[in-house]
Amino acid sequence: MSKILENLQLPLDQSLEDYLAWASPGYSEFRVLKKSVDARARHNPHFVVSVEVAEENERLPQKTYRLDQISHQPKTKPLIVGTGPAGLFAALRFVERGIACELFERGSPSEVRMKGINQYWRYGKLDSHNNVCFGEGGAGLYSDGKLITRIKSEHIPFVMNRLVKFGAPQEIEYLSNPHVGSDRLRRVIPKMRDFLLQNGCTIHFDTQVTDLVIENKKVVGLKTSKNQVFKSDHVLIATGHSAEDIFEVFKKNEVFMEPKSFAVGIRIEHPQAWVNQQQYKSAAGHAALGSANYKLTHHDEKTGIGTYSFCMCPGGFVLSSSTDQDGLVANGMSNFNRNSPWANSAVVVTVDAKNNFGNSLMGGVEYRKSLEVRALQAVYQNGGTKQLPAQNLNDFLNQKQGLVRKGSSPSGEVSARVDQVLNVEVYKKLVEGIEAFDQKMRGYIHPEAQVYAVESRTSCPLRVTRDPQTYQSISHGGLYPVGEGAGYAGGITSAACDGIRVADRIYEEIKSQSLEAIESRRGL
Ligand SMILES: Cc1cc2nc3c(=O)[nH]c(=O)nc-3n(C[C@H](O)[C@H](O)[C@H](O)COP(=O)(O)OP(=O)(O)OC[C@H]3O[C@@H](n4cnc5c(N)ncnc54)[C@H](O)[C@@H]3O)c2cc1C
Repeated sequence: MSKILENLQLPLDQSLEDYLAWASPGYSEFRVLKKSVDARARHNPHFVVSVEVAEENERLPQKTYRLDQISHQPKTKPLIVGTGPAGLFAALRFVERGIACELFERGSPSEVRMKGINQYWRYGKLDSHNNVCFGEGGAGLYSDGKLITRIKSEHIPFVMNRLVKFGAPQEIEYLSNPHVGSDRLRRVIPKMRDFLLQNGCTIHFDTQVTDLVIENKKVVGLKTSKNQVFKSDHVLIATGHSAEDIFEVFKKNEVFMEPKSFAVGIRIEHPQAWVNQQQYKSAAGHAALGSANYKLTHHDEKTGIGTYSFCMCPGGFVLSSSTDQDGLVANGMSNFNRNSPWANSAVVVTVDAKNNFGNSLMGGVEYRKSLEVRALQAVYQNGGTKQLPAQNLNDFLNQKQGLVRKGSSPSGEVSARVDQVLNVEVYKKLVEGIEAFDQKMRGYIHPEAQVYAVESRTSCPLRVTRDPQTYQSISHGGLYPVGEGAGYAGGITSAACDGIRVADRIYEEIKSQSLEAIESRRGL
């Protein structure tokens, strides 16, 4: 029998092997179940580890996550639009259950997509199909690869396990704050693609889905930019929160959608060494700790509006990540080693859909677009071409323009009035929030801190409402809105879990149909 040692407190310099040699002499092998850093005690950050240990001559039980398979193929193959985490994990789940499926992606395979992204950062020439949000891997590929999620889902271990199978670091299965990094994700996705192709999934790259085929309020297929029509009983749309073309397709076809609150703001960049110092005190810089992160929130009691840090990228890079030639979006990423000298994070304010846009369905989409256009104008007005608009944090707070330093963004930065890109109300809330952050994390208003515009793609401003049991659109059977663009996920892990959830629901339906078919053939 293996035994579990829970919540071991290990000093930074103590190796787990050495500890186990003392605590469980003669053990044959061990598996880390959980590991986190506890940095709350001043000057004494340490690891908290739970571990499963096999005694001498024993083996640890293997975790396999093997799935039940279908006995008969369905009449039509499920069609999945989008190869972000939601679409890829839906496809993976189908093929692992023996169901052949087809994936559609407006962008190219990740290796080609990379060239489009580099071209944009170097020359400002946007490829509308291959950018930081579009192309194989979705917005998830060119990300920080943080896998932490607030959702509770039985599918999370499966997601981590399969990412590891395709090359993600094994530690994501047990770290409390798992992270893959953009560089590693770029190697994971092609392996996942190969597995899908070898196991019954057809992938149509460079193929934008342009319309739905609808019969009697039921979606029965889709149309593509290559003038093809594909028919299916199951059409999954996992196109992410930037797919404005798909929102228009839904609107035109009267697919039920509703406005959803989201958040906008700025990306802020601090010296990583300062963040490490704040979080780890005298242990800052210890090799076992790596780059520290932070999470800050401020809640305005009077208005109920929250300002919060979001998507923090320690040792990362601020990215220009637009999908439109006439707008600019700021976001962040980091590589696995998180070793850039800068830490960046979004600081955003909630934009309540009802209060701000009333009954206007597209109000949120139009609002974020207007901010993105203003961000690009700010660059042009200040003599820039392809850079992000930037402002020293103190200048941002004092509403003035000054010098900016060289930051981490591969597109570069140009001095601009970032404060003026934002609406007055959002600006005021950001100032209030940042001042409150400075109380919680002394020195947050750091002389070298710099802000960038505009953080506008935090989550989807719409929800494509679906039935909670069948996961089909409440207005159109056969249509399965999935992932972040449907308003049912926010982040890589939750989008992947949503893809799995929907694929499993369809599997159950297909399984019950094939059982019925068998029984009717037998005359039961
Ligand atoms: C720079 C950046 C960093 C991020 N960092 C993190 C992070 O560290 N951790 C985290 O959890 N989340 C992060 N996110 C958010 C995360 O990437 C998303 O939440 C997640 O990718 C959403 O998954 P999805 O599958 O629903 O949609 P997406 O990943 O957006 O994928 C949608 C896919 O659909 C395709 N598509 C769109 N329209 C069409 C069409 N008409 N026809 C065919 N294909 C279409 C797109 O090309 C894209 O590949 C980051 C996002 C960005 C942009």
